Amino acid sequence: MGGWLEGKSLADKIKQDVREEVALHQRTRHQVPGLMGILVGDNRSSQIYLKSKEKACQSVGIASQILTYPGDLEPRALKAEIEELNGRDDVDGILVQLPLPSHLDAHEIICAISPAKDVDGIHPFSLGNLMANQDGPKPCTPLGIIELLKFSGVPMQGRDAVVIGRSLIVGKPVAAMLTNENATVSVCHSKTKDLADIAGRADILVAAMGKPAFVRAEFVKPGATVIDVGINRVSDKDLVRELFGDDEKRRRDLEERGYTVVGDVDPRAAERAGLMTPVPGGVGLLTVAVLMKNTLDAFKRRRGIA
Ligand code: NAD
Repeated sequence: MGGWLEGKSLADKIKQDVREEVALHQRTRHQVPGLMGILVGDNRSSQIYLKSKEKACQSVGIASQILTYPGDLEPRALKAEIEELNGRDDVDGILVQLPLPSHLDAHEIICAISPAKDVDGIHPFSLGNLMANQDGPKPCTPLGIIELLKFSGVPMQGRDAVVIGRSLIVGKPVAAMLTNENATVSVCHSKTKDLADIAGRADILVAAMGKPAFVRAEFVKPGATVIDVGINRVSDKDLVRELFGDDEKRRRDLEERGYTVVGDVDPRAAERAGLMTPVPGGVGLLTVAVLMKNTLDAFKRRRGIA
């Protein structure tokens, strides 16, 4: 194996660049970017994700606030709140934490966000720009993946890339971005036949399906670059032992938290891969760093700063 493709140094670099530029705008314009997180209901994972985003904002000097609403909030009321934020000059980014409670249509709610403040890059206007290979906010996790490949010197042009998963926040946009980087891209999903065979042809394999350790070593072409996007909580002790042997940290996770975080790729596939992102410590770190960068970019775009 060539080694682990850690996300930390790039995530730190992105955040440091944002921190320096935010400080500059504060000195020269007496303004800093502002990010509003919207949480509807009491989904525990969503609360944790938003907290970590708020912490990242604090660490780079972005002003942020989490607005929480009851789980039975009416669609019209949520859209009115978003409309209010759209009109506020101190708000550069609006982030609706997904998933939303089932009575709310995520597409309809995302469409209510002004495209200029769509720091998650999932408004149809942003996705249209992505398809057209134009400037504009890009979804955070896919952009983090592309930046990590570039940062690590992994060539994309002319190479075969396979993306497993076709969600709007990961699979589809990362496939479009790899295409824009001149890779030849296949997208696999739950109805794909011969997935192992298709995955086995990939020079760059992106796994984003939310199924712990689904991609086994034999799916991986020897020497391929494997990007594991999955974040799955696994509490099955036998499975953890099978995947990680007697790994001390995993054993402690199970004892102290009752679960350990496992990606969509069997960690033993790392032996066949040329490079592989670890879980945790890979793509996940980049998502939040890119959100900081997207918020700064939205701040600059709205003010016409080059
Ligand atoms: P999703 O549930 O919206 O989509 C899953 C996709 O996988 C679907 O397109 C489905 O067709 C496909 N799929 C499901 N089972 C499959 C199978 N057996 N074979 C082939 N394809 C299959 O998931 P998502 O929001 O894209 O997230 C995917 C994973 O990435 C999850 O584990 C999630 O927690 C993680 N994630 C991580 C980050 C990060 O920052 N690292 C960000 C977003 C999502």
